[in-house]
Amino acid sequence: MEVSSVKDIDVRGKRVFLRVDFNTPLDEQNNVSDDTKIRASLPTINYLLEQGAKVIIASHLGRPKGQFKPEFSLKPVAERLMQLLNRPVKLAEDCIGEKALKAVAGMQPGDIVMLENVRFHEEETKNDPSFARQLAQLADVYVNDAFGTAHRAHASTAGITEYLPGAAGFLMEKEINYMSKALESPERPLLAIIGGSKVSDKILVLENLIGKVDTILIGGGMANTFFRAMGYSMGNSLVEEDKLDVAKNTMDKARAAGVKFMLPVDLMMADKIEKNARHQLVPVDKVPDGWAAVDIGPKTAELYGREIARAKTIIWNGPMGVFEIDDFAKGTNYIAHAVAEADALTIVGGGQSVQAIRKLGLTDRISHVSTGGGASLEFLEGKELPGIKALEKKPVAVK
Ligand code: ADP
Ligand code: MG
Repeated sequence: MEVSSVKDIDVRGKRVFLRVDFNTPLDEQNNVSDDTKIRASLPTINYLLEQGAKVIIASHLGRPKGQFKPEFSLKPVAERLMQLLNRPVKLAEDCIGEKALKAVAGMQPGDIVMLENVRFHEEETKNDPSFARQLAQLADVYVNDAFGTAHRAHASTAGITEYLPGAAGFLMEKEINYMSKALESPERPLLAIIGGSKVSDKILVLENLIGKVDTILIGGGMANTFFRAMGYSMGNSLVEEDKLDVAKNTMDKARAAGVKFMLPVDLMMADKIEKNARHQLVPVDKVPDGWAAVDIGPKTAELYGREIARAKTIIWNGPMGVFEIDDFAKGTNYIAHAVAEADALTIVGGGQSVQAIRKLGLTDRISHVSTGGGASLEFLEGKELPGIKALEKKPVAVK
């Protein structure tokens, strides 16, 4: 899909409405506890500033459900951005109306105004046209860098492009480029590692990937449902009994498509899914009653590691086990290191998978760590993301 790039539009001296995903976690004192998402959009912000644009930044934060709630104010985010840029960021008390218009009036090139949380208005998530128009009134052009929100058709991610020429920021472009390269023109073998808790969460991803990838490695709780579908007894493991047909069907489709579809050969079992629980390793056909699968075993890790080492493009979504508990993180950690060491284009997407990578300090050794959990999942499902589609619809005048 071709989207317009911020590089292709003239922003000099213009008021630029920049939608970002600054939905960052806050600590008890309401300070930003993780500024990854803010840093991820700095290249776009710095570029706009260098070009002499007037930068009007919009984001959501949390779920205030259409009302002003001080705990969802973007104030701490504006403060952190100010520190990172080392220049003033003015926070407008509202994202539309008089307060917003006043805040942007008289802006000079290089000025930055951050609008208050767009989700303080319920019209945002409803993609209300008149709200979108009011947002658009603040600016001359629209730039979207909020990949993390691109799977939502909201006023500030989609509707606004009906009223302003739009283009993608650098983060948005980077996300699209890596994901499309991996899915549409990968260097092969193309390998997908799919884990996480449930088959039902990832079934659409699996369906889309079969027919594109050469190999799929399955891990995490979802492997259990595949094993149940094959008739294995899984003890107290997380199994989606109502998804056995879906699982069987997926394996049949993979076989028909000539995709190498791999399941674990050994599992770490625990008597409870909690810290300090008793645990033991078993082959997949020797799962004891009353125990739950919590990780892939070392034989599986090694087997998967060999596939990873051979691959030229790797997409990873979903941890191999309950990695939040150290005893059950070995499989996920092994896979994380294998992916980091692979001589391949590597992409990691999904909230928890990204967390696992970060915990190990391996972020810099992955070609692309996606900033969007839900958005990257929908991209892998082959869906058209409204926030990206909106940038394609109305190509802007080339410089
Ligand atoms: P991501 O956020 O990377 O897309 P998911 O949300 O699909 O990943 O799944 C992550 C969750 O799956 C983790 O919280 C992890 O504890 C859980 N999980 C992984 N393996 C198992 C298992 N065998 N049993 C229960 N939960 C599991
Ligand atoms: Mg998750």
